[in-house]
Amino acid sequence: MSGHVHPTPGDAPGPTTTDDAPLRPTVAEVDLGAIAHNVRRIGEVAGAQVCAVVKADGYGHGAVEAARAALTGGATWLAVALVEEGEELRRAGIDAPILLLAEPPVVAARRLVAAGLTPVAYSTEFVDALAALGSPASPVEVHVKADTGMHRVGVPREAWADVLDHVADLEAVRVTGLMTHLARADEPGATTTDDQLDAFDEFLAMAADRGLRPELVHAANTAGALVWPRARHTMVRAGIGIYGLSPSAEVRAAEHGLRPALTWRTRVSFAKRVHRGDAASYGHRWSAPADGWLATLPVGYADGVPRVVGGRVDVLVGGRRKPMVGTVCMDQVVVWCGDDEVARDEEVVLLGVADGPDGRQHVSAEDWAEAAGTITYEISCGIQRRVPRIHVGVG
Ligand SMILES: *Cc1c(COP(=O)(O)O)cnc(C)c1O
Repeated sequence: MSGHVHPTPGDAPGPTTTDDAPLRPTVAEVDLGAIAHNVRRIGEVAGAQVCAVVKADGYGHGAVEAARAALTGGATWLAVALVEEGEELRRAGIDAPILLLAEPPVVAARRLVAAGLTPVAYSTEFVDALAALGSPASPVEVHVKADTGMHRVGVPREAWADVLDHVADLEAVRVTGLMTHLARADEPGATTTDDQLDAFDEFLAMAADRGLRPELVHAANTAGALVWPRARHTMVRAGIGIYGLSPSAEVRAAEHGLRPALTWRTRVSFAKRVHRGDAASYGHRWSAPADGWLATLPVGYADGVPRVVGGRVDVLVGGRRKPMVGTVCMDQVVVWCGDDEVARDEEVVLLGVADGPDGRQHVSAEDWAEAAGTITYEISCGIQRRVPRIHVGVG
């Protein structure tokens, strides 16, 4: 034995690291400038105020950072799904108006009022719980939501008159918004959207009859804002579009000037040559079509690579498109590089753009959504917590 001394951090040569530096080469990089741009763009297209939807940790992009970027881009409101999500924004010092998109359990009323969230309301029980926390001098502000055909949440049509009468009579509650939600805005040809918007007009007229004419009237999600002029009213609630992702295959973000904010990168963790016929990964469901290079990446379904995309999407290895092959494992996946030699630590883009010998290449959340039989929303929300988010660009 040669009495070899194992290098300690700080000792050259050899790679070193501090004890708490991130070791994982895998990151989701979020361009806050893109979020600000997208909010501005949606506001221009819609000619309305933008309520930026940052629920589910900003669709996986980081709620606080996304919210700040959206406000920089001109959003006048933010929206969340959970009281806890609104509290997180308040703890970060964000004081913009925040809409709570659905009624929480009635016991949550006190907390949401304390956090200064503006609740969406559609049941008399919930409205009464809010009224108990307000007073004529300091009423609790609410947006009343009509069900115009989505049949998820909202005042059912048969109850519109009663619920509007009820809230109009409560002095401790003030209606500052009226809204609905569209079931098929992402299908430009769906006639049910016009039916819903007709019904919403009737609801607005019934509210006006009771003296309820708030400035904020909103029906559109991203798709509604982009392709249904009638849905725009005075505010649009944009989620997926502010992240630059498409609501559906028929409503494409790029065609409306929106830019994806998220790039998911990693590095090759192992590389080797294999022989024609060598099978790889669980189940040996793929085998090499020729002798060539096979790379392993340190990401898997526990990071948010859907198992079903194995064999159906490309990744960018050093800017070259290469197919993800075989079974996606919990923490790893393999990539067929063919004749192109690949080395450990080489940069890989899972989602995003990279420049390579054949020019600029792009693998998108839309590609993954199509391969997985799902929507872009589930891809971006699916990127797990163990993938660190890095925020770049001016928010
Ligand atoms: C999530 C949500 C939105 C945002 O929808 P996108 O399609 O992401 O723009 C708007 N309104 C309501 C009620 C929502 O729940």
